[in-house]
Amino acid sequence: MSPGSAHNIIISPIGDVTPELLVPIREEIERIYEYPTKVMGLLDDLEFAFNTNRNQYHSTPILEKLADKAPAGAIKVLAVVEVDLFIPILTHVYGEAQLGGKACIVSTIRLNDGRSYLNMQEPFLSRIVKEAIHELGHTFNLRHCREHTCLMHYCRNEQDVDRKSDQLCRYCKVLLDDEMKRLAVK
Ligand SMILES: [Zn+2]
Ligand SMILES: [Zn+2]
Repeated sequence: MSPGSAHNIIISPIGDVTPELLVPIREEIERIYEYPTKVMGLLDDLEFAFNTNRNQYHSTPILEKLADKAPAGAIKVLAVVEVDLFIPILTHVYGEAQLGGKACIVSTIRLNDGRSYLNMQEPFLSRIVKEAIHELGHTFNLRHCREHTCLMHYCRNEQDVDRKSDQLCRYCKVLLDDEMKRLAVK
């Protein structure tokens, strides 16, 4: 697994995002996915995705814009936001991803005890980092995993997130390796 030097994973904070949060997210992305990371603002605001009835942001159009704006050489883009996200069939989401695509997003707000400021302590920090890694996993074509401790397990609540480890299970690791090889020969 040796991705070309032109390829990196972009981490894109949108709106007010605590800069210190990006440090552990970068470290974990580099550990799990073995691509270099770069922090880059790709969108100035999220107003286009705001739903006034729900007072939340629809994540799907945000992903489409991010994928459009991703620079050449960016293999994936992870947006980090501190606003509440939804998709129409769910009351809220921790994040969303384009399966096998380029863009994904994670929100801190529901993983942060509903506080308006970001709590950089545990378990909040680990929850956010795990869900960021989870969403990126989908862009590498990983689907939800039944193993409760695997990063790709689907979490309905914070307790589920806390039960996950900071690792992919061995099955998801094999699938990720295959996808990495496929991307490297492209
Ligand atoms: Zn998922
Ligand atoms: Zn797994």
